[in-house]
Amino acid sequence: MPHSGISPFEIDMFVDHLDGPVEVTDGVYYYAEFSGVTAFETEEGLVLVDTGLEDNAPALAETIRTETDQPVDTVVYTHGHLDHAFGLEAFLLEDQSDPRVIAHENMPARFDRYERTSGHNEAINARQFGGTAAEQSAGDGESQFRWPEYPPTICYRDELTLDIGGLTFEVRHSRGETDDHSWVYCPEKDVLCTGDFHINVAPNPGNPQKVQRYPEEWAETLREMAALAPHHLCPGHGEPVVDAPDEIQNRLGSSAEYLESIVEQTIDALNDGSPPHVDIIHEVDAPDCDAPWLAETYDESEFIARNVIRRYGGWWSGRPSELKPAPRERLASELASLAGGADVLADRALALADEDVRLSCHLADFALEAAPGNESVQAAVAEIYRHRASEERNLMSGNLYAAAAAYASEGRPFR
Ligand SMILES: [Zn+2]
Repeated sequence: MPHSGISPFEIDMFVDHLDGPVEVTDGVYYYAEFSGVTAFETEEGLVLVDTGLEDNAPALAETIRTETDQPVDTVVYTHGHLDHAFGLEAFLLEDQSDPRVIAHENMPARFDRYERTSGHNEAINARQFGGTAAEQSAGDGESQFRWPEYPPTICYRDELTLDIGGLTFEVRHSRGETDDHSWVYCPEKDVLCTGDFHINVAPNPGNPQKVQRYPEEWAETLREMAALAPHHLCPGHGEPVVDAPDEIQNRLGSSAEYLESIVEQTIDALNDGSPPHVDIIHEVDAPDCDAPWLAETYDESEFIARNVIRRYGGWWSGRPSELKPAPRERLASELASLAGGADVLADRALALADEDVRLSCHLADFALEAAPGNESVQAAVAEIYRHRASEERNLMSGNLYAAAAAYASEGRPFR
């Protein structure tokens, strides 16, 4: 069971690392270890789009450095996530001066937020990758959620055009996965660097634990990118699309349609009397996602619908009892006592696990909340969540359920 560190879901999701650097076109190189980096050679030095995770950056840089020994002149961080804005140091030559670092003006507020909420972010990140917060904090003690070593030196608002050593870089802002997102187009090379607007799998504006994401603007941006009709696409994760303008059109257009369909269905459901959220998510059908770049291996449509609901509504689920709920253990104890004990609930949850896993997990939660110290309940609930994790096909669901199994084994219902 993947319950610590980077789980198999992550490995499956994105081509983990490429066989070697890809020369996208003359003087433009792309490589990915989990997240991607694009390097443009110019007469003034390298322009990098993104820098990878701090831990992966040495391998990323070493690979890019097999192609070019130019000093880094300018870097664009497409957004302030750990896997994009924290690896610059590894790319710098020993005797070079600090490069310019370009980012959207919302990025500094993100790093302030990371520092203010680092304990929370460590916990939710641990769960997203299938573990518990306790395992995560067993590390070296320094939070990953902080300002990067090389923060932005130039922040822009809507768009910024850079002329560097004979090449033009059109840096544009739009909201999508984050509110500080940039993407870059180099017309001379006809290369589009999408950041996480395209990650080779279905877009991920549904992350259950993260701040607001923006599927509408995401779709608009994909259409704006498609209008440039680029020949080459360097994504935020996975393999680049080289010299395939038709495929790029198809990827960007169908990804926009996917998002638009979920948003439209969710807003229709909201407009129909604003039912409780749990009813809405059962009314939204997953769009057709047969194309490999629409595979829901990271996020899924049900979570994107949730994110749309949050955007247009408040925090209340719409279920009356949840406006001012009883403490979890009080409700769970009451239900367990009605049922004849937490063990009875756990047994019924186990019996339901194959036929209706959603229902089974509700009973499992009540059983564990009613009797967190009961070892047979812990074992049953952990088994149910391991089973559920193994049935899921995407990282978010699989890992959150794997985390639930790890917490259950410790007698801690996510606490
Ligand atoms: Zn990313």
